[in-house]
Amino acid sequence: MEIINRSVAIKDHVEGAPEESDFELRTDVITAELTPGSNDVLVKNLYLSIDPYQLNRMKKYSSSHETSNYAAPLVPGKTIDGYGVGRVVASAKAGFEKGDLVAGVIGWEEYTLVHEGTMLNKLSTTEFPLSYHVGILGFSGLTAYGGFYNLCKPKNGEKVFVSAASGSVGNVVGQYAKLFGCYVIGCAGTKQKVELLKNKLGFDDAFNYKEESDLKSTLKRYFPDGIDIYFDNVGGEMLEAAVSNMNLFGRIAVCGVISEYADAKVRASPNMLDVVYKRITIQGFLAGDFISQYADFFALTVGYLRSRKLHALEDISIGIESIPSAFAGLFHGDNIGKKMVQVAEE
Ligand code: NAP
Repeated sequence: MEIINRSVAIKDHVEGAPEESDFELRTDVITAELTPGSNDVLVKNLYLSIDPYQLNRMKKYSSSHETSNYAAPLVPGKTIDGYGVGRVVASAKAGFEKGDLVAGVIGWEEYTLVHEGTMLNKLSTTEFPLSYHVGILGFSGLTAYGGFYNLCKPKNGEKVFVSAASGSVGNVVGQYAKLFGCYVIGCAGTKQKVELLKNKLGFDDAFNYKEESDLKSTLKRYFPDGIDIYFDNVGGEMLEAAVSNMNLFGRIAVCGVISEYADAKVRASPNMLDVVYKRITIQGFLAGDFISQYADFFALTVGYLRSRKLHALEDISIGIESIPSAFAGLFHGDNIGKKMVQVAEE
């Protein structure tokens, strides 16, 4: 049986902020007949994760290219791979059968032929909407969990600052921190996002960083007694301002530096004397570092979801054609919560 498969690729390397015109939608014909013994699995893709790190893969060069298999460079004209959820259409692999729901590395396309060695797991539960397995129960949640509990080493009552706090990772970090017993302030780029953080997600306070002209004094105003933990999603000037407001032995988990992805001229230059004399720990990490804690992360997060203590914040675009605008929108602050694209009905 032959299947029409539409997919998304970059036309050329992307160096600045991504635009919809940087992408092309291609149409190919693929076969659903799998070679016995190949261990291939053909997946009909349902929800695709749209993530900022993909921009680093689109560049000619980025440090990500050499340090993480998941962030390997993308080749213009070739389908972009990424995390998502789908349903098995055909399988030559033991343990996977037609109809199974799976999560793993698929592609920005309607169908993906997943080869042996590529991450693909059967979903362990259908208790929650499928989209949760892309966001809060997927890598966004694991990123928040790994970074917050392992690197930030929170203590009850500590003061936590989260940037890009209404985003996929940031909103979960803020919610975990509140549930842990911390005092939490987030920043985001619109009034609507700020209201949501305060009124729906339970942050103690929040502010719109785009309305502030001096971030160091802004943070001083919101944290008169200093910051114990900064969960950094943005880098740049915000990281500098956070460092100057950190308390002794403060911890900074550098999850991402999105303000630096689209502009090679933006680079944080924190005051290193602050780092030395205040004995601040600044540590970068990748979600994959915590894959061995997946079961603990899943149990905690599912428990919070069941008791409705945790909200799943999602932002879903529909149709494969919407991928370029969904992706470009991340860099303009268009999304609220986990950005994903639903490419097919469940
Ligand atoms: P996200 O926060 O859901 O979406 C990106 C958000 O970043 C936008 O909505 C926008 O919100 C904000 N933003 C965009 N450009 C900005 C700029 N120039 N300055 C400040 N804020 C900007 O994305 P996410 O998936 O949760 O990722 C957040 C960060 O974590 C990214 O840096 C990402 O690369 C990183 N990350 C790292 C890992 C890891 O394994 N280390 C895993 C997942 C994500 P505003 O309206 O607030 O500006």
